[in-house]
Amino acid sequence: MKPINTFDVVVIGAGMAGITAAARLRSAGWSVCVLEKSHNPGGRMATRDKPEGCWDHGAQYFTAKSVEFRAQVQQWLAEGSVAQWKSPIAVWDGEQLSASRSRERFIGMPRMKSPLLDMAEGLHIVYNALVTQITHRTDDWIIEAANSIWCAHCVIIALPAPQTRALLPTGSEAHSVANSVEMEPCLALMMQASKPLGLPFAAAFVNEGILGWIAHNNRKPGRAAGEHYLLHATGEWSRQHLDASPEWVQSAMLAEFNRLLAHWLPGNKIPGVYPRYFHRWRFAKASSSAAHLKSVWPELGLALAGDWLGDGRIEAAYCSGLAAANALLNESVSVSASVTDTRPNIRTTEDKAPF
Ligand SMILES: Cc1cc2nc3c(=O)[nH]c(=O)nc-3n(C[C@H](O)[C@H](O)[C@H](O)COP(=O)(O)OP(=O)(O)OC[C@H]3O[C@@H](n4cnc5c(N)ncnc54)[C@H](O)[C@@H]3O)c2cc1C
Repeated sequence: MKPINTFDVVVIGAGMAGITAAARLRSAGWSVCVLEKSHNPGGRMATRDKPEGCWDHGAQYFTAKSVEFRAQVQQWLAEGSVAQWKSPIAVWDGEQLSASRSRERFIGMPRMKSPLLDMAEGLHIVYNALVTQITHRTDDWIIEAANSIWCAHCVIIALPAPQTRALLPTGSEAHSVANSVEMEPCLALMMQASKPLGLPFAAAFVNEGILGWIAHNNRKPGRAAGEHYLLHATGEWSRQHLDASPEWVQSAMLAEFNRLLAHWLPGNKIPGVYPRYFHRWRFAKASSSAAHLKSVWPELGLALAGDWLGDGRIEAAYCSGLAAANALLNESVSVSASVTDTRPNIRTTEDKAPF
């Protein structure tokens, strides 16, 4: 097979980390190719768009703490691809509902991935291109995907940690970095109610039972009216039942939702709620962080990016993509992905939900 083309850099993965890195390098004048296994960009910033409605079934919202991400969010707000989500969010502790700590939460408009689509505009992205092998030669990289070969001086791997290590030789320093982080799964159920449920919140962190998060998707800005609900199971329960049949998982999650509705809507006749779609996120959230580890090898033209190089959220993915691109631009500078808070994940009770 002959190389399809030679680029300054090939970025593997079109999620927030990969698109941020690609956009930064393209704006610096590099020729960039992004290879993505799926048929569209966004990765875990995903929305299930169906005739009967839409569900954001991956990332639910994001926060912005670092200077660089806050500046980017301000730009998205001005352009309209992001809005602040101000609806009431509750915390359920098993006995009572309380209001979640007030904080600035942002969502993509009208879909979670909308800001990422803006950044991706004009980028050369090849879809349905599952990268199966990368090989370093003296001065360049050979990347194999979809029965084709790409050649590039640099490569950025912007994937979840397990998918990153699968592409790296065992024993290499980069492989050990990716090997240091495990990722938790998350089972997601998209549901529809036959009549308005009248829940006293737009979304809730659930700190008891098998569910971690419940959202009424239509109560996010920019979404059509409707009764579309999204349930995320906890990381622990998702791990235990990751390979159970979808029918079994759906009925267990639905039964749990109905149990919670009986608490939250006492004395009300609860309308029928029906499962519509189900998704298994195998690598939803990093259970530790590799923020303190090296993630760029300028002498090899290799950089890693992804949320697991920070605190496992969208902001970390963005910052890691920017850090990877800047480090390759500066060549001699060794930078590890940085977000303002690089401590290992510390969860408050409110945050027992997957995110
Ligand atoms: C259920 C769930 C809820 C979440 N909730 C929140 C939240 O509320 N707030 C928040 O900030 N974050 C949340 N997150 C995390 C957030 O979605 C991620 O931090 C962020 O989207 C990660 O971006 P990324 O670019 O690092 O990885 P990804 O989005 O995973 O992108 C990686 C891309 O690489 C592609 N790919 C994989 N392997 C290959 C290969 N071999 N070849 C080519 N392409 C490949 C994938 O298809 C994907 O598009 C949530 C995630 C999940 C799953």
